[in-house]
Amino acid sequence: MKSEIQKINSKNNNIYIKRDDLLGYSFGGNKLRKAINFFKEIDLGNYDCVVTYGSSSSNHCRIIANMAKERNIECYIISPKESSKETLNSKIIKNFRAEIIIVPVEEVKYTIDHIMKELKHTNKTPYFIQGGGHGNLGTKAYIETFDEIQEYEKKEKIKFDYIFLASGTGTTQAGLICGKVLNNSPIKIIGISVARRNPYGRYVVLESVYDYLNESEIEYEKESINDHTIFLDDYIIDGYGSYNEEIEKIISNMMSTNGIPLDPTYTGKAYYGMNKYIDQNNISDKNILFIHTGGTPLYFDYLDKRGI
Ligand SMILES: *Cc1c(COP(=O)(O)O)cnc(C)c1O
Repeated sequence: MKSEIQKINSKNNNIYIKRDDLLGYSFGGNKLRKAINFFKEIDLGNYDCVVTYGSSSSNHCRIIANMAKERNIECYIISPKESSKETLNSKIIKNFRAEIIIVPVEEVKYTIDHIMKELKHTNKTPYFIQGGGHGNLGTKAYIETFDEIQEYEKKEKIKFDYIFLASGTGTTQAGLICGKVLNNSPIKIIGISVARRNPYGRYVVLESVYDYLNESEIEYEKESINDHTIFLDDYIIDGYGSYNEEIEKIISNMMSTNGIPLDPTYTGKAYYGMNKYIDQNNISDKNILFIHTGGTPLYFDYLDKRGI
């Protein structure tokens, strides 16, 4: 599955947006790209159910539940009680009749192990997917995306100087960094953290990069990868899901002038971080690619919350 890259009107720099939000299945997004790789493995194996975890607003859980339903295999979603407020994603997930198990956050890991064991006991063959589609198959999805970006560069005869994206559990950024390493590209990849602080947030991205390159037996220079992994925790505001007036303005402007929905948790926050970073570092006359990682249902949750 491939997505379009679209140039938008902007001052000072040439801004392009890669529309992964328009990938044509279940509202698309980066979780779709990752899920496709996991389900390739499920389809090749003997699996008859899938187990994953995430909050009620999880784009990952929505796509996994959709793909499981499509195959008519059972889907178990373990969700922390602390973030189980009803959202559009949770309604969609319920509509697929996925089994949602809500437990206190500290019991999530135990519950996953317990359900996996129980399922195996009843002669089921469950496939486990980490939250957010974490893992090498998730990373691989964004190496493939990096290739798509390079194809576009060749076709349009341009070179991107920067890629900006919302970084959460880190495999989207890790995949892009692996793509950069494998292609010896000078592009700068900047992850705007939506929740995690440094040094932990950056460390998780790096671990995903090393994991993938090790498993694929690709040689690399650790130092150089370290230097090229930029994970910024300056724009988190008050943590996951929090936002400010500036982000609201960005969401509103982006919709009015380009018809592109952003949400306050991921893409709106990342776009805000990108603008700030560009200003703070006096970046001008560059070709900048922003990856729209999806999350369209969260745009509607946001409108609902504002009472529009
Ligand atoms: C999950 C998610 C991200 C973060 O991706 P990671 O691979 O977890 O870093 C960014 N944007 C949206 C819309 C997401 O759902």
